[in-house]
Amino acid sequence: MQASKRISTILGGGSDGWEVFLHAREMIDGGTPVTELTIGEHDIRTAAPILQDMHRSALGGHTGYAAVPGTAALRDAVAKRVTERTGVPTKRENVMITPGGQAALFAAHTAVVDPGDTALYLDPYYATYPGTLRGASATPLAIQAHASNAFQPRAADIAAVAKGAKSLLVNSPNNPTGVVYSRETLEGIAYVCKEHDLWLISDEVYDTQIWEGEHISPRALDGMAERTLVVGSMSKSHAMTGSRIGWVIGPEAMIEHLINLATHTTYGVAGFVQDAALFALEQGDDFEIEIAEPFRRRRELAQNVLAQQNVVGVVPNGGAMYMMLDISATGMSGQEFAFALLEQHHIAVMPGESFGIAAAGHVRVAMTIEDSAFEEALKTLCRFAKDMTEKA
Ligand code: PMP
Repeated sequence: MQASKRISTILGGGSDGWEVFLHAREMIDGGTPVTELTIGEHDIRTAAPILQDMHRSALGGHTGYAAVPGTAALRDAVAKRVTERTGVPTKRENVMITPGGQAALFAAHTAVVDPGDTALYLDPYYATYPGTLRGASATPLAIQAHASNAFQPRAADIAAVAKGAKSLLVNSPNNPTGVVYSRETLEGIAYVCKEHDLWLISDEVYDTQIWEGEHISPRALDGMAERTLVVGSMSKSHAMTGSRIGWVIGPEAMIEHLINLATHTTYGVAGFVQDAALFALEQGDDFEIEIAEPFRRRRELAQNVLAQQNVVGVVPNGGAMYMMLDISATGMSGQEFAFALLEQHHIAVMPGESFGIAAAGHVRVAMTIEDSAFEEALKTLCRFAKDMTEKA
């Protein structure tokens, strides 16, 4: 029996980019310690008071089917947060709670594309993007954001392929580059969306991790609220990756469609997880700053290490828990460099090529281990890059 084309081509036939990560995990399983700077997961676990609230809610009986669009209290809290942070009046009816940002990305695309429609996205991209678009029956088309432009996408490059496309997916602060899109970049994107009648899907799961500049939600730009679906999540902002809780924000009519989709797919999110999410949001800005703080600190440590050498270049990373390092001076591809670093120094980083072609010759470093080990690993990486450059 055959699987559908739609599901069997989710990976598009190429590599899924996780080879270095998987090899590192094999080494660890075989007893070799590896310093992992690969995946975007905090080195702290979900805070105990949030888990205590989840426990309280579950024991209190919130274990049956929960409201499919999300509880009224959580939707209201998310709407209030979005209104306060973006200035766009947002109501409960503009919010649907999802099991994480990933499910929100899939739902948002399912809501705007018909089978075979072109869905645009930007390269470098978060590894699941092309598969998510294919899974939603779209034909994904990547547009490169160039290293020479600090990975800020150019509106003209998007406009050049926008004719006939249905949607554009953007992500700022960006995974994998750590780049925060400037107002100019986002104004350009908004202009192209309006000119070519595109839906904009704005993945803002890193919105609380801003180290320089400001986070601008493109939904707040002129004429954009009616054509933008914002994907949000508590995974990164509240260290709740395993709780699977996020949302889509959009026009009321689209949220109605998304509720129908959820009724026929996820059937909502566990009530006790939603209650804990509400509790977490109620902890306010200070808590979110505290969760983001280790990455801010490590970014500074990394800047100091990188300032003392001139082989490895760094892409200006104004946000998120990653740094994209330019190792092209070594003459190696990101993949070769990452494999060699793993073999020789037992340090795992992600090759830039795992995220498309625009970040070839780069490696992505996740700032997700304890400060001194992180600093040490970066120093080793720089020394290794220097050795490789001298050999080249
Ligand atoms: N978007 C981006 C850019 C991500 O990096 C991630 C997770 N790494 C997600 C969406 C999905 O996150 P989650 O499903 O945990 O909310």
